Amino acid sequence: MGKNDTRVLTAGIEIPYVGLGTYLIANDDAAAVVRAALGVGFRHVDTAEFYGNEEGVGAGIRQALEAHGLSRKDVFVTTKLWPGNAAWGQTPKTTETTIASLDESLARLGLEYVDLYLIHAPFDHEQRLAQWRGLVELKRQGKARAIGVSNFDVAHIEELVGAGLPLPDANQIELHPWSQKPALVRYLAEKGITPIAYSSLVPLSTWRIAEGHDSAKTAEMRATGERADSPFKAMAAKYGVSEAQVLLRWAIQMGYPVLPKSTKPERMRQNADLFSFRIDDQDMAAIAKMDRGDGVAWPMGDPTKAA
Ligand code: NAP
Repeated sequence: MGKNDTRVLTAGIEIPYVGLGTYLIANDDAAAVVRAALGVGFRHVDTAEFYGNEEGVGAGIRQALEAHGLSRKDVFVTTKLWPGNAAWGQTPKTTETTIASLDESLARLGLEYVDLYLIHAPFDHEQRLAQWRGLVELKRQGKARAIGVSNFDVAHIEELVGAGLPLPDANQIELHPWSQKPALVRYLAEKGITPIAYSSLVPLSTWRIAEGHDSAKTAEMRATGERADSPFKAMAAKYGVSEAQVLLRWAIQMGYPVLPKSTKPERMRQNADLFSFRIDDQDMAAIAKMDRGDGVAWPMGDPTKAA
């Protein structure tokens, strides 16, 4: 992997810019998909307790390591704590059950450690600090090389600061030209927290189409993505790449690692091929003006807006 293909987290650990997203990939399919992704050059895989596919993802990683003569340290693996949401009838996790959760994830993955462990969302006000203390302990034990959060807004991170706890190494959030979160991104830069972008491909007319993710907002966005005068179509033609590559390259130029999900090897190849062109300053400035506000990836609303 070349030097340009990674950035360094505050924990001093290199994170490959391009990771495979695995949300909505069934456990039974995950091993083959992950194996194929590592086969086309991915060295970073993103899963979560919530996705229900850690077993398949872990099997795919272990099979690929063997097939390609790689070692565990060659692949960056992220999983996420499902924190529990009392509003959905779930029991929010405590420090103790947080620690037990990573042990269970590691057993399903068949790995001894993950490179990054995240709190999936800031659901429970009472338990957020307790869960973060659990992650700090897991890092101390070496079961997670780096720790972070996901879908946390400034106020959620300020709670950790106020309690005198270590800052997260990363915050995984919905980031693409239509959801740029400028205030949050500025805050993360000031604190040295790496933003990791998810759902980078929202502006594509094909985004999650097979998965039937539909709301009035996504239907309207899909129609915008389909328009012949879409600025991403024009940029793709100008740089001789696909629209997906333009969206992913934008994130990388902003300094955000990306997690494109595809089960199709041809798309995986495209999604990993992001280092042979550069979006020029004029186009980056045009994209900076495209922000439409909140994210759309969570069917129940933008979790960065959680209380
Ligand atoms: P995404 O990666 O932005 O988009 C995936 C969709 O785009 C799928 O429908 C895929 O279909 C299609 N696609 C992929 N590559 C393409 C290409 N080159 N051209 C055209 N279409 C393409 O969406 P996402 O799954 O929402 O986000 C990515 C990952 O981020 C997730 O898998 C997950 O790991 C993570 N994530 C995290 C959170 C969180 O709360 N932390 C939330 C959402 C996502 P095919 O599979 O058919 O190719």
